[in-house]
Amino acid sequence: MASLDRTARQFLLTEVVVGFLVTLRYMFKPKATINYPYERSPLSPRFRGEHALRRYPNGEERCIACKLCEAICPAQAITIEAEPREDGSRRTTRYDIDMTKCIYCGFCQEACPVDAIVEGPNTEFSTETREELLYDKARLLANGDRWEGELAANLQADAAWR
Ligand code: SF4
Ligand code: SF4
Repeated sequence: MASLDRTARQFLLTEVVVGFLVTLRYMFKPKATINYPYERSPLSPRFRGEHALRRYPNGEERCIACKLCEAICPAQAITIEAEPREDGSRRTTRYDIDMTKCIYCGFCQEACPVDAIVEGPNTEFSTETREELLYDKARLLANGDRWEGELAANLQADAAWR
């Protein structure tokens, strides 16, 4: 009976007709694909992309060198060195992230008491060499300056759940 059924379906081209009907149905539906990089899909405010170090509006670094992010990082990707300044405040002299080790868990951002280290919306930071993924403080602060608008808006949007 099963072989008779299979033979009938082969002669009547049932699978082909069903396949064409599926194609026809999807032809008139909205496209699921987007024309990247000219179009982009929306990102959650919680998206964990490239890291950045933020500043206060007066330009002062937020980071107070407490090293909580370094301690919490499960990949041991963060290296911090710190010294007190002349005014008695404590600031980092070195803040490195080895992005080749980072697993984008977001723990550093969660641990930071002053919202200094954050993971931003940028996903386009692929490189040709490993060395380019060894971020230093200047690079992270530059990321913060570049993305501050989006970073602040994302933190604001998520504030009620933190
Ligand atoms: S996202 Fe996770 S793995 Fe990456 S630097 Fe932060 S704590 Fe470390
Ligand atoms: S980035 Fe935040 S958690 Fe890390 S050392 Fe600076 S203040 Fe502390």
